[in-house]
Amino acid sequence: NRRILLASRPQGLPAPENFRIETRPLPALAEGEVLLRTLYLSLDPYMRNVMNEDGPVYAPSISLGEVMIGGTVCRVTESRHPAFQAGDLVLANSGWQDYAVSNGEGLMPLGATDRPSLALGALGMPAFTAYVGLLDIGQPQAGDTVVVAAATGAVGSIVGQIARIKGARVIGIAGGAEKCRHAVENLGLDACLDHRNPLFAENLAASCPQGIDVYFESVGGAVFDAVLPLLNVGARVPVIGVIAHYNDTDTRLPGPDRRPELMTAILQKRLLMQGLIILDHYERRFDAFRQDMETWLAAGLVIPTEDIAEGLEQAPAAFIGMLRGSNLGKLVVRVSD
Ligand code: NDP
Repeated sequence: NRRILLASRPQGLPAPENFRIETRPLPALAEGEVLLRTLYLSLDPYMRNVMNEDGPVYAPSISLGEVMIGGTVCRVTESRHPAFQAGDLVLANSGWQDYAVSNGEGLMPLGATDRPSLALGALGMPAFTAYVGLLDIGQPQAGDTVVVAAATGAVGSIVGQIARIKGARVIGIAGGAEKCRHAVENLGLDACLDHRNPLFAENLAASCPQGIDVYFESVGGAVFDAVLPLLNVGARVPVIGVIAHYNDTDTRLPGPDRRPELMTAILQKRLLMQGLIILDHYERRFDAFRQDMETWLAAGLVIPTEDIAEGLEQAPAAFIGMLRGSNLGKLVVRVSD
C-alpha cells in the first residue's frame, strides 16, 4: 500500500520535499471493517491550510508523518461489515493512499454510476459549495451582474453555470487567455477577464457597466481589490475562500491599513458579506443540491470540467500546480481503475 505523508511543513508555496511516499503492508481486516481501494482522489485548496501547524478553525492540522487527508471514491474490495459488499462504490475520506481500512463510518454508498469521479466534483463538495454560496447568500436575480472568481475551477465553473441558469449576466475572472476562452466558449459566461493582465481592473470595470450585484469570492488579494469599487448598493458577497493568501507566511503583512476603506464600503453600500464553510450545510441542503444538479447535468445546462492527473505519485505535483493555477476544472487523481 503506497501512502503519501506530510514530511515537513511548507513555508509559502508547498514543495515536493514537503511530501514523502512510503509503502506499507496492508493490515488484516477485523470484524466490522472494510478494505477500500482508492479509484479517485480529490485535490482541494483546503489541504494547503491543514498542512500548517495551526490548522484552520474548521479542521485540525495534519501531524508530521501522517497520511495527507482527502476525499476519495473507492471500491470496497473486501468486507467484514454487514452494510457493505465487495464491489460497492463509496465516497470516502481515505486520503492520499492506494488502500485504506475503514469501520464504515462516514462512507457514502454511490450506487451504480458510469462517471464515479463526479462525486468529488460536479456532484460533490465543490459544486455543493457553489450551490449554497450562490443561491443562499448570493441570491442572484435575473438581469443581475454576477462576478465569479477562479471561474474555471472546481467551484467557480459551477457557480458561473448556475448563475446563467438563474438568468444573470455572468462575468468570470481566471488566470490566462486559455482559461478565459474556456469560460466563455464552454461554460457559457458572458465574458471572462484575465487577472494576470496588467489592465485587469480597467477591463473588469468596462465589463461591468451596471456595477456588480453578486461577487462570488474565493480568491482575495488583487482580484478583490479590483472588485470592491464596482460593488453596487446592496451587493451580496459569499466568501468561500481566499486562495491568494493560502501561501502567505503572515496574513498581517505590513502596509497601509485598508480596513477603513473596506468598512466604509460595507457600510455605505450596505454590503452583505458572508463566510461559508460547506461542512455546515450538508444536513439542510445536500438533498436539494443533488436533485437540482442531477437535473441540470442531464439537461446539459451544467457541463462538468475535470482535470485528471494519472497515478497516486503525481498527487504532490498536481496539488502544487493547482495552487499556482495549472488546473482547468476539478482536479482529481486517478489512482486505479
Ligand atoms: P480551483 O479548481 O478553483 O483551483 C484553484 C484555483 O485558484 C487555481 O486554478 C487558480 O485559478 C486560482 N488561484 C490560485 N492562486 C490565485 C491567486 N493568487 N489569484 C487568483 N486566483 C488564484 O479550486 P476549488 O474550486 O476547489 O477552490 C476554489 C476556492 O474555493 C479555494 O479558495 C477554496 O479554498 C475554496 N473552497 C471553499 C470551500 C468552503 O467550504 N468554504 C469548499 C471548497 C472550496 P486561476 O488560474 O484562474 O487564477
